[in-house]
Amino acid sequence: MRGSIRLFKVFGISVNIHITFLLLLLLFLSAGPKWLFLVAAVFFFVTIHELCHSLVAQHFKVKVKEITLLPIGGVSSMSKMPEKPIQELLISIAGPLSNLIIILVFFFPMKFILGKETLFHKLSTDTWRLTFAYAYWINLVLAVFNLIPAFPMDGGRILRAILAKRMGYQRGTHVAVTFGHLFALAFAYFGIIKFNIILVAIAVFIYMAASGEEMQVDIRETLKKFRVRDILARDFMTIKSDATLAKALELVFHSHQEDFPVVDGGELVGLLTRQDLMKSVHQFGVTRPVSEAMRKNFPRIKETDLLLKVQALIQESGIRALPVMRDDKVVGVVTLEDIGRVYAIASQSA
Ligand SMILES: [Zn+2]
Repeated sequence: MRGSIRLFKVFGISVNIHITFLLLLLLFLSAGPKWLFLVAAVFFFVTIHELCHSLVAQHFKVKVKEITLLPIGGVSSMSKMPEKPIQELLISIAGPLSNLIIILVFFFPMKFILGKETLFHKLSTDTWRLTFAYAYWINLVLAVFNLIPAFPMDGGRILRAILAKRMGYQRGTHVAVTFGHLFALAFAYFGIIKFNIILVAIAVFIYMAASGEEMQVDIRETLKKFRVRDILARDFMTIKSDATLAKALELVFHSHQEDFPVVDGGELVGLLTRQDLMKSVHQFGVTRPVSEAMRKNFPRIKETDLLLKVQALIQESGIRALPVMRDDKVVGVVTLEDIGRVYAIASQSA
């Protein structure tokens, strides 16, 4: 995630901290060591929570790139959520479950060490003992908050997984999103009557995240229905590696194409995207050859690939256009805009 710093790596997952979390830390620096301890505790328990999601995900062969810790919780960046409801359920429940397990396992030790009085005291940082109790209960807050059955909380995913088993993934998502919207409205209502701006902000966040989830699933369902060959343009242009960037610019201006496979003697040797071209022109001018601006490492796609797979490849690689191959021959390019257009048209006619 942008604006975050890597702290350490565990189980092949890099654990990052977002800059806003550090700012929070600075803010609490002046509040004294007990508050600082609490922030560290939140940090620690959120990390455990996210690691548990990630470990179960890895068990189901879902790649986890990184965990980013934000003041409001953690975000695990996974390559894609499995669509098998039971797998999504187990991945989603692992986080809150880890916090509940901490509550259970440490209940008697905490009661023994701190005493009943302190453990069940109103949350406070008046003494160190009370602060330890506070840190302990943070786990309950994390578990309960994340189990709210609304996207983007874990509870929303759990609900979706349960519904998806009965009514299918897309309808399950739709119902879970409606739940998310209702929760958001309830939060907003209480936020407004209690003049609590944080509640209102959470409401807006939940509402938008729920809508975002629904759109993502709709896009995915649509892109599953099309293959690359369904949208491939009949005519497309390639460029030679010894052509100048001026020539490439000319092609851009005189055609509707902005990304070019670089082909020498019938063989694909590189890819020149709009970004590559613009960057090189800015840096070196237009007289350089294409070979100096093109990229050599990029995924290739097949005519028969689903657009869903192509979208995932574009997202993963961060390259906005990919060449389409039939055997060893380039037969076209598919860009992010092409995919967006398919979605726009398909969702209009639906
Ligand atoms: Zn979680």
